[in-house]
Amino acid sequence: MASPVRVRIAPSPTGMPHVGLFHTFLYNWLYARHTGGQFIVRIEDTDRARLVEGAVEALLEAIRWLGLDWDEGPEVGGPYGPYVQSERLPLYREHAEQLVAAGKAYYCYCSPERLAALREQQERAKVPPGYDRRCRYLSPAEREAAAAAAGGPPVIRFAVPLEGETTFYDLLRGPITWENRLLDDFVILKSDGYPTYHLAHLVDDHYMRITDVLRGDEWISSTPRHLLLYQAFGWEPPRFCHLAPLLGPDGKKLSKRHGATALLDYRDAGYLPEALVNYLAIIGTSYDPEGKREIFSLPELIAAFDLRHINKAGAVFDLRKLDWMNGYYIRQLPQPDLARRLLPFLEAAGLHADLAYVERLVPLVQERLTKLADAPALLRFAFVDELDYEAKNLIGKGLTAEASREALAAALELLRTIPEFADAPLEAAMRQLADAVGVKSGQLFMILRWAVTGTNVSPPLFASMEAIGRERTVARVAVALERLDALIAERGRGAN
Ligand code: GLU
Repeated sequence: MASPVRVRIAPSPTGMPHVGLFHTFLYNWLYARHTGGQFIVRIEDTDRARLVEGAVEALLEAIRWLGLDWDEGPEVGGPYGPYVQSERLPLYREHAEQLVAAGKAYYCYCSPERLAALREQQERAKVPPGYDRRCRYLSPAEREAAAAAAGGPPVIRFAVPLEGETTFYDLLRGPITWENRLLDDFVILKSDGYPTYHLAHLVDDHYMRITDVLRGDEWISSTPRHLLLYQAFGWEPPRFCHLAPLLGPDGKKLSKRHGATALLDYRDAGYLPEALVNYLAIIGTSYDPEGKREIFSLPELIAAFDLRHINKAGAVFDLRKLDWMNGYYIRQLPQPDLARRLLPFLEAAGLHADLAYVERLVPLVQERLTKLADAPALLRFAFVDELDYEAKNLIGKGLTAEASREALAAALELLRTIPEFADAPLEAAMRQLADAVGVKSGQLFMILRWAVTGTNVSPPLFASMEAIGRERTVARVAVALERLDALIAERGRGAN
C-alpha cells in the first residue's frame, strides 16, 4: 500500500460548487482514505471581486450531504490553519518580499494603462502576450522615481529565469517540459495586497505539508511556474497529477447545457448521495479491469482506489447513466429508509403525511422511481380527498355506461364486504366478479383505476387500494358510482 498522503481540494468560492469539483474532490478523498492519510479543504478566496456569498457553506453542506468529510479545514480546524487564504495574508506578503530581497522577484510599477497598451501592441505584432520585464531592470534611482510617480502600491512579479527549461513529472502524463523563456514574469502579489493563486496555493501546499496535488488539467501550463517558485524558495515540490475535466455525452466540457452542474441541485432533484458518490468515483477510472462492474460501496471504492486506474481521457458524465444508478440504489434501500427520504419530497409537493403512512406507500413506487422527486406525482392520489377526472373515463373500453355502472356497483359491494382487504385477495375476488358480471377483468380494472387513483397510469391497483385502506377506497368508488349515475342521467335527459 502507498504511504499515507496529504491531499487537498482548494476551491475558489466564486460560484456554487459543481459536479466537476466533486469529481476531483472524490479522487483526492479516496486517495487519502486508501492510504490512511489526510484530506484537507482549503478555501482560496483571494480573488475578491469574484467571491460569491454562500459558496463555502454550499461546499461544506454538499460534502456532508454526500456522507463524506474532511480532516482539516474550515469549521474543523487543524494544525496548519487557518485554512482560508484571506486569513493568511501576512504569510504571503512575507514570502513575496523574501523573494524580492533575494533578487528573485521585483516590484513592478507599470500602470494598468501601460500594460493594456503593451498587450495591444503585442497583439498587433502577433507576438505572444506577456509582460516586457521593464521594471525588472530598473536602477535604484529609476525605481525610486517609478515608485514616486505610481498612483498606488506596486505589484510583485516573479523574475523567471531567462534560460533553461523546467520539467515536472505528472503522475498521469509523465514528464512535461517547458522552456523558461516562454514564461513571463507573472504577478505573485497584487496591488491590493492579495497574493495570486500561483503564490498563495504554493505557500499553503508547502506549509500544509501537501504531498500530492490532484487538480484540474487547466493548471498544467502553470505548473512549470510553480516548479520555479518551489526552486526559488528552496522547497521540495509535491507530486502532481492533472485530471481531465468532466465531459458531457457529446464530448464537450460539461456545462449547464448538459443539465444541472451545481451538486446540490442533484440533491434537490432526488438523487441519493450514495449513487452520486459511486457514479462520480467510477467515471474516468477503470476500477474493474473487466469493465463490467459498476456498483461499488464506499468501503469498496476506498479499498480499490489506485491512481493508476485514472484514465487520461476525460470522464463522461452521462445523466442517463446516473439515473440508472440512482434507480438501482433506490431499489436497494430498506423500505423504512426510503420512506424517510421521500418524506421531504412529498412535503415539498404539499403532500403532508406521517412516516407510517409513507411506509405503506413505499412498496407501490420503489421499483418505479428514478429519483426521489418522482414520487409525489406517482403518489398524489394517496393524499388527496377529491380526485379530479372526467366521469366519462369511468365507462370501460368497449362497454356501455350502464354495463360499467353495474360492474362498478358490484365492485363497491365487494370492497365493502371482502374479509381481507389486501392486494392478492382483492385481485382474485375482482377477477371473479368481472366474470360474474360479464366484463373483462381489464375493463373492470381500468374503471377501478380511474375511480381509486383518478388517472389511468398509477402504481399497481390493488396494492394501491391496500395502501390507502378500505375506508378511502370505498369512499372513492362510491363517489365514482355517483358520478357515473349523474352522467347516465344527464345523457338520458339529453336523449329526450
Ligand atoms: N483555487 C484553484 C481552483 O479553483 C485550485 C487549483 C488547485 O487545486 O491547485 O481551481
